[in-house]
Amino acid sequence: MSDHGPKLQLYNTLTRAKAPFEPLDAGHVRMYVCGPTVYDFAHIGNARPVIVFDVLFRLLNYLADRNAWGAKKTKVTYVRNITDVDDKINARALRDYPDLPLNDAIAKVTQKTADQFHADVKALGCLLPTHEPRATDNIDQMQEMIAALLAKGHAYEAEGEVLFDTASMADYGQLSNRKLEEQQAGARVEVDAHKRNAGDFVLWKASNENEPGWDSPWGRGRPGWHIECSAMSNRYLWDAVKDKLSDGAKSAVHQFDIHGGGLDLIFPHHENEIAQSRCAHGSAAMAQVWMHNGFLQVEGEKMSKSLGNFITINELLEKWPGELVRYQMLMTSYRQPIDWTEHNCNIASLALVKFSRLLRSSEKGDWQPQSDFLDPDFLGALCDDLNTPAAIAVLHKICDDFTKSSSADLIQQNRLDALHNGLEILGFTDPAGFETQLIEFKRQGLDISKDEIGELIAARAEARAAKNWAEGDRIRDELAKMGIQLKDAKNPDTGEIETTWEVKR
Ligand code: AMP
Ligand code: ZN
Repeated sequence: MSDHGPKLQLYNTLTRAKAPFEPLDAGHVRMYVCGPTVYDFAHIGNARPVIVFDVLFRLLNYLADRNAWGAKKTKVTYVRNITDVDDKINARALRDYPDLPLNDAIAKVTQKTADQFHADVKALGCLLPTHEPRATDNIDQMQEMIAALLAKGHAYEAEGEVLFDTASMADYGQLSNRKLEEQQAGARVEVDAHKRNAGDFVLWKASNENEPGWDSPWGRGRPGWHIECSAMSNRYLWDAVKDKLSDGAKSAVHQFDIHGGGLDLIFPHHENEIAQSRCAHGSAAMAQVWMHNGFLQVEGEKMSKSLGNFITINELLEKWPGELVRYQMLMTSYRQPIDWTEHNCNIASLALVKFSRLLRSSEKGDWQPQSDFLDPDFLGALCDDLNTPAAIAVLHKICDDFTKSSSADLIQQNRLDALHNGLEILGFTDPAGFETQLIEFKRQGLDISKDEIGELIAARAEARAAKNWAEGDRIRDELAKMGIQLKDAKNPDTGEIETTWEVKR
């Protein structure tokens, strides 16, 4: 693979260019993606980075298993945090559990929301990250970093807060391409009196007794949002692994390979993560490659609560199987904006049904590939900065070739393997079983059981046998209203009419 397979190319927001991806340590790829703030159900916009970086995680694992970077063995560590300290969480805890002590109320909100998030992303076919640290389990690490920033003159205390001094970092603003002077001049809000510069941001802030807090050298308080990711990425992607890194990677102190999240996080969140991490450790970089997914809108409009088009993953999964949500997400390249439409849900469904029918048509029972063969064009598309729509187009072509072809069995088998294995890398764990799952899913959503449908079909057959056509039609229409469509066909062996049914929505 390292000599002849396609090279993974990734677009880097920091350099604004696509370049071949080379991990700092050929034996260990390290990636961090900003996770959810757990105060409310995740919406489908939040599902996008989770799915996009899951595909990248799967691709990195695939390449690692095939020695793509020349090491005998390469492991991939993927960290996605859970932000469980945030003012929005406090507000939600006070609103939902006014009678509980604040800490207990907060614990309830964060546990319930994190559980829901896990159920949602599992249904979307996402693997668990290697580590999923919670902010509240990393307060000591954050305090250590804040202390280092103060000691090195990159932070100052003012009015119960510790703030990062943006003017103390000569090249602050590289990721978002913002110059400090521009921010000052363009600041529409008055600079808070206690801040030295308009762009200075909170590392630590004092908590009153109605807010969660931890003791610290700067009084009882809580961390700012940005410091969480700096501390957690450093703990899991540097401190915990540095002794085992290659010499080259060790010399890139406190650095890792890939940092990801949505476009909205470039500024201020990621810019400030970089400032904190680099200034606290005196390092040249935080991560080598910064990747950002584009935004998702719904039926041509920005998703917002006030427009009433705000869709949670949870709601969507009641209507559609997770695979279909995932497929629609991958129909667009990750850096482009996505317009989420009902129409595309149907397109996704048709495609997945087509693929699963083709896989099953070749054999009865559970279909399994015979090899790990992948179409080189498919892999090439994925390695080209995760071009999932191009990769999906290759899968459609494989389908067409299979259908049209009268090639030898071996070539046909290779095509099926390439289709199956391609879908698997995209995160579809049972591509052959999709149609069955879809039918089962739709059935579960019905207000009627299979037995009841059977009874009604028998009653209709009885009515028709007694030439009571009106009653027969009434039963058929009643089932149609529930989304059940009947099909009558003559059994060629017995000559009798047999009725089958399917779910139509
Ligand atoms: P948040 O909980 O708002 O911090 O968002 C969690 C993740 O979802 C971040 O990576 C955001 O960039 C991403 N995100 C939020 N809204 C959208 C959206 N409409 N489209 C795509 N990504 C989004
Ligand atoms: Zn972050």
